[in-house]
Amino acid sequence: MKSEICNLKLVIKSFGCQMNKLDTALVASSLARAGFDLIDGLKEADVVLINTCSVRDHAEQRVISHLGHLKHIKESRPDLIVGVIGCMAQRLGDKLLEHEAVNIVCGPAQIPQIANLIKEAIEKNKKELAITEQIRKPAPQPDSDALEEFESAYGIDDKAIPGQAFVRVMRGCDKFCTYCIVPYVRGPEVSRPPEAIIDQIKRLADAGIKQVTLLGQAVNCYEYKAAEKTYSLADILANAADIEGIEWIKFVTNYPTEKYFDQILQLMPDSPKVCPYLHMPAQSGSDKILRAMNRRYTAQWYLDLLDKARSIVPDIAIAGDFIVGFPGETDDDFQATVELIKKARYKNCFVFKYSPRPGTTADKRLQDTVPPDVKQARNIELLAVQEKISEELSREFLGKTVKVLVEGPSKKPHLNAAESNNNPQLVARTATDHIVVFNAPESLAGRFATVRITKTTPLTLFAKLTESQE
Ligand code: SF4
Repeated sequence: MKSEICNLKLVIKSFGCQMNKLDTALVASSLARAGFDLIDGLKEADVVLINTCSVRDHAEQRVISHLGHLKHIKESRPDLIVGVIGCMAQRLGDKLLEHEAVNIVCGPAQIPQIANLIKEAIEKNKKELAITEQIRKPAPQPDSDALEEFESAYGIDDKAIPGQAFVRVMRGCDKFCTYCIVPYVRGPEVSRPPEAIIDQIKRLADAGIKQVTLLGQAVNCYEYKAAEKTYSLADILANAADIEGIEWIKFVTNYPTEKYFDQILQLMPDSPKVCPYLHMPAQSGSDKILRAMNRRYTAQWYLDLLDKARSIVPDIAIAGDFIVGFPGETDDDFQATVELIKKARYKNCFVFKYSPRPGTTADKRLQDTVPPDVKQARNIELLAVQEKISEELSREFLGKTVKVLVEGPSKKPHLNAAESNNNPQLVARTATDHIVVFNAPESLAGRFATVRITKTTPLTLFAKLTESQE
């Protein structure tokens, strides 16, 4: 393979969630090892891959507009190969292949084939389609083996954030929230074998990684049945915590369920490596809307679960997600969400305006009744309620000394340059996933540091460096 595609210049553009970013990293790593030259600018590119997201309409529209731009470029450079990979590729399949700009359509389960697909598209000068025909059926053994091998081989090359890596522990989802496309584009829930995950984390630790974030659409539902034992996420966390060199372990995203909840949460006070951070979306505070979303809990049950988390881990930081303007959401339903947010006291939360996704149950059965301006107003109101809470919680950090893992130079200008001592402004995170900004040498990227918090805003803590560590 290497000789035929050696030195082809490749650009990869990625949309969507952390799961997609991880896929992008795996594809980039596999193609770099196959001889491709990864570059940033379109001008020089021989191949452009777009890793797509179908969770929101907005993300798909951005891909369509990008493809329009590439079609224009291809008028003067017809040899340019354009591949669409990821969830949108699986959702639209051959419809996407009809687009004039597109040469390759490759679903999330077919990414191990990507180098071959590019080679075939170039050599045979024809369009290539690789998606899963029956997405809700368990993948045939050769395909799942290929995906597992691909993950193990290339899952240790991600250099996006120094000192950190993301490790997928499960694929797909079986929850079928009515608004969500994920079960239809990523297929059934499959937990990876514990030994493959632990081996990958050991290799990451050997390569100098200090923090791993375990990924799954409902990561706390990880369950792997072996001959004599059923492994849960608590087992994976406990084994990962035994690995020398790994100092912090986080895991996202959690589905609200009691199964394994105590075992997972109990690891936080018991092991300093398992970070006291829980991202657990509620989506709504109205029981009627939760039912319509097929979320399998009530608002009170969810709040009781948060109370339980705080009784086990008093200093835990909790983050949430909400959808506003779900079909049938009345003012009273929305007020119930406002009340839930006030009681939950999240560190931060993400708010999304409902948009119908073709193929989901909500799109098939429910009318998108809430007007756009009402969705917008609810979005703004919810963020304002949360901002006040985030501000209060952030203020509790003032004057405290905290340990952070440094990510690298901050992209946003935050601090007064006069205070900087000519050091760049770095961004880092605490074990509770709070963002901290401070001035220090860039060489701290990927290392732990101790800082004193001097100023707070709702979403950012500002600090002074007191000590840096290896
Ligand atoms: S848990 Fe629900 S929202 Fe999350 S990926 Fe699965 S179906 Fe989608």
